[in-house]
Order: sequence, then structure tokens, then C-alpha cells
Amino acid sequence: MVKINPFLKNINNKNSFLEVTRIVNEYKANHKNNKVISIGVGDVSRPIVKTVIDAMHKAVDDLSNIDTFKGYGSYYGYNFLKEKILDNDYKDFDFSLDEIYISNGAKTDSTSILELFDINSSVLITDPMYPIYRDGASALSRNVHVLDSTTESFLPEIPKEKYDIIYICSPNNPTGICYTYDELKKWIDYSLKNKSIIIYDNVYASFISSKDVPKSIYEIDGAKKVAIELRSFSKNASFTGVRCSYYVIPNDIANNINKYWKARTINRFNGADYIAQKGAEAVYTREAQKEINENIKYYKENAKLLREAFEKLNYKVYGGTDSPFLWIKINNGMKSMDYFELFLKEFEIIIIPGIVFGKKGDGYFRVSALAKREVVIEAIERINKYYEK
Ligand code: PLP
Repeated sequence: MVKINPFLKNINNKNSFLEVTRIVNEYKANHKNNKVISIGVGDVSRPIVKTVIDAMHKAVDDLSNIDTFKGYGSYYGYNFLKEKILDNDYKDFDFSLDEIYISNGAKTDSTSILELFDINSSVLITDPMYPIYRDGASALSRNVHVLDSTTESFLPEIPKEKYDIIYICSPNNPTGICYTYDELKKWIDYSLKNKSIIIYDNVYASFISSKDVPKSIYEIDGAKKVAIELRSFSKNASFTGVRCSYYVIPNDIANNINKYWKARTINRFNGADYIAQKGAEAVYTREAQKEINENIKYYKENAKLLREAFEKLNYKVYGGTDSPFLWIKINNGMKSMDYFELFLKEFEIIIIPGIVFGKKGDGYFRVSALAKREVVIEAIERINKYYEK
């Protein structure tokens, strides 16, 4: 009999998004006339802005015309998009087109990048975490080590042991906390010393406004030698349903890994969607940037409303400043899965239990400011009404 990849059996479905969805669906099925609302899920609610939609319509038309039709594109992405990325997101860092890759989502990229490294490389993930790192790495049969973050900062201490691959997510999902220049520098120094590689997940870059938080890891000296940065159009440009992402593999990283990544990609990927890439190109126009900034402002206002509401009720709230996520301490000692179920039954509001993001997350829950304003307001009203009783 054919054997299943044993690592797939390590994936814990008990404390997962899958389980949260199952409980929510069961509740909805048993309360068909009730209105369950979500301030938990990390999907966006603002539609794609008009300038970008127009560019995608035009791209669809290109495909209908014999002179402008596009078949297979570049495995690594069209230059028209890579140029925009270089000129806008990475203009201070002197990268070449050759170091930028376009793909179909940072979720895929965050773990497929492991195919670049020896299967025995040690992979370090910090808890709480975007659980895809742990489970995606497991699906690829990698050796995953989990490093707990410290209790109050949610940033882990730099380990004494050597690890090969290190995942850093900043702005962080789920905690909403960001690495400052100083905190990140410690990891760069660690990686330079140990010849490690950092996978820097920066998909929430557009939410950063604090002066002490870098917009890119490459702002820090030495990062070009050790860091691969991942970004996405999902959260700034509402591409969660369109799918387009990008990442940088600097030529300065030792062992000519760019060459090997190209060999891997030719054999594993046929390039991102032309329509999505045309839309992504338009994201960098002045009009689209104006519209997108309005959307980010809208989400940040949601975050402010949520923060104020929970703080007024004496919850300890983290994040929500340079991130759409708020990470909230459960103040009655309950386990996060139980608290999530309590929220669902008492308020008919979906929050995400912290345990989904690792064992250090138990005792917390995640709230997302990416919901519609009216949902945020209704959620706050429902909770306040309960506490007024
Ligand atoms: N990385 C992090 C930290 C995320 O929170 C998400 C989505 O929620 C992703 C990656 C996935 O991004 P994409 O939609 O580009 O696959």
C-alpha cells in the first residue's frame, strides 16, 4: 500500500482554523435565523480600487485580441511589475530585476521557499505564529523547532543554539506587534554569525507607520546577506481573491541560491496570472495609491475603535497600531477555545482563539480590523450591551 507522508499526520487539526470554522458552521446551522458576525477573520472587506479594476479589465481585453494575447509568461514574473516593485518598495536597496519574484500568494511562498534548502536544515518558528509556517513546513517533511516568545513583548529571546532557517513575521500575525530596527538587528547579527537565513514575512508592510519600525528588513545593515523578504498584494490592494505576491532573494546571500531557486521555479511554477500582474502594476499608480491609502486608513480607524472598546472594558490589548490585528488577553483565566465559544454563544461574534497560533497563544484571542465598519460597530455595541446588564 502507498504510505501517506507521515509529517501530514503531525498537523494538528484540533486547535486550528478548520476547527473554528467547524464550530461556527455548526452554530449557524442550529441558529439559522440569527446574525453571526465576524471580527476575527483576516480577510479584507474593502473592494479592489477602481484604477486597479480598470487595469484588470484592460488585461482581460488583451487576452481576447490576437495582437495582445498572452500565453505562458515568465516563471519569475513580468518585468513590467518587477520594475514597479523595484522603483517603489525597494528603491533604496539597489536590487536587480533578477532578485525579484512574482508569485500567487505569500501563503504558498512562505513554505515553498523551504524547497531551496537541504531537507535536514533546522527550521525555527516563534510561538505565537502564523500557523502555516509550522504546518506547511511539516507538510514538506521539515524539522520544525518552536521558540516561545516572552510573555509580555511577544518577541522571543535570541536563542543560544544555531538554527538554519528562521521565520520572522512583522507586522506580526497574530499579535499585531512589530519588530523595531533594534530588535530586528539582533536577528540579522545572529544570522550573520550562524550563517542562517531569515524568511521575513512582511505582508502587512502597508500598515506600518511607527518611525521605529522598518518598512523592509533590507533597511538594516547586513540583511541582504541573510534575508528573503515576502510581500503580497492581498492586504493592501484587496487581492485575497485575485492572488498575487512577490519576494526578494538577494544575490548577496551566499551559495548562489538565486541560481538554484531559478532552477527550482522553472520546474515547479508556470508564472503568476497575467491579469493579476497587470492589476498589481496599477497598484503603484498615484491614483490607486491614494485610494489604497484611504482603505488602510479605514482599517486603522476600525482598529482604533476596537482597541478603545476593549480597553474600556479593562482588556489588555496589544497590536492594532502598525497592523490590522489586535491581540487581546483573556481576563478571566479561560482557555482560548472556550472563550471563543463563549463569544459565539453570548454575542454571536466570531473571534479567533489564540491557541490556533500556538500554545503561547492560549489565554489570548485575535481580533481583526479588516472587517466592515458596520460590523465593527455592531460587535462593539453587542459587547457593551452585555457588560451594561
Ligand atoms: N503571511 C501572513 C503572515 C498572513 O497573515 C497571510 C494571510 O493572512 C499570508 C501570509 C497569506 O498571504 P497571501 O494572501 O498573499 O497568500
